[in-house]
Amino acid sequence: MSKTILRQGERELAISHVDKIPGCKDCKWRYICGGGCAFQTKYNFGTFQHTSPYCGVYKAILPVVVELHALQLIREFQKKGGGENGISGHITSGQ
Ligand code: SF4
Repeated sequence: MSKTILRQGERELAISHVDKIPGCKDCKWRYICGGGCAFQTKYNFGTFQHTSPYCGVYKAILPVVVELHALQLIREFQKKGGGENGISGHITSGQ
């Protein structure tokens, strides 16, 4: 009985993908978030085919994390001598 339940869960997990999860498939953060922890979702909602129970947290945090990472990349770029005409001039010049 428990082996059957485990195999059913394994099959469900194997076909689970963020592009197929209702509520996640159109989310702009899906390739960063990935739908969160599949097992946490299964534990909370009884299925892998659901948004993460922490979805609201991810949607609040991910824009900040991405912005901070972008600022870090810009600083590293400038430290290496890039962006002598300003980073925006470099980016808009298409080089
Ligand atoms: S942020 Fe929410 S909706 Fe978007 S991929 Fe993650 S869990 Fe899914």
